[in-house]
Amino acid sequence: MIGLKTRVQDFTIRLTLESGRTVEFDGPGDITSETTDAIVNAANSSLLGGGGVDGAIHRGGGPAILAECRKIVSRIGSLPAGQAVITTGGNLAAMHVLHTVGPIYRGGDHGEAATLASCYRECIRLADEHALQSLSFPAISTGAYGYPVSEAAPIAISSTLDALLSASHVARVRFVLFDIATLRAYARVMEKPKNLDFNSSYRIEKKSS
Ligand code: ADP
Repeated sequence: MIGLKTRVQDFTIRLTLESGRTVEFDGPGDITSETTDAIVNAANSSLLGGGGVDGAIHRGGGPAILAECRKIVSRIGSLPAGQAVITTGGNLAAMHVLHTVGPIYRGGDHGEAATLASCYRECIRLADEHALQSLSFPAISTGAYGYPVSEAAPIAISSTLDALLSASHVARVRFVLFDIATLRAYARVMEKPKNLDFNSSYRIEKKSS
């Protein structure tokens, strides 16, 4: 096992729950290359595309994703933060995209943590409702929406683990982390997983290269 603190260049950490379900942390990586059943888009409420991971997903998936997003908007209006909807993956390897809207960070005392936790929970619930078995998350809200990744990472992980406990189909969740700073933040949480707000048993394997 290699110490992650000083040598995070590229890593995989796998956490396995007693049920056999896994949560993987991988990077640096581009979520648009993922082959899980679904990938998650950190969208904005308009669902009409944007920069960051949103732009990359629409570019990679092609116009079919935007066409479905437009239909959803005409049905429900804009998507509130903390909720999620599903579309095709278009040309992506992943069959589906789950679009969720993270909170815009405004100092941390405006309910941001609860909204961010809801994004992860709702995506897993929606994936489960569609009998999907695997999905990949980016670090929602930590780009343009300004959520400090050191605060966002433990929320992302705890809320994912909690949601997995009550899932029937989702058995594998991946965090696909785009840059070194984000990798380090997740690695730090996984170095002291006892700090997580999660009490069920699990085991952790780490591989670093
Ligand atoms: P938000 O508006 O929710 O902050 P961003 O897309 O600006 O969304 O950033 C969210 C995270 O997604 C950031 O950590 C950013 O580095 C990362 N990101 C950007 N492009 C990709 C990609 N192709 N794959 C995975 N993560 C990405």
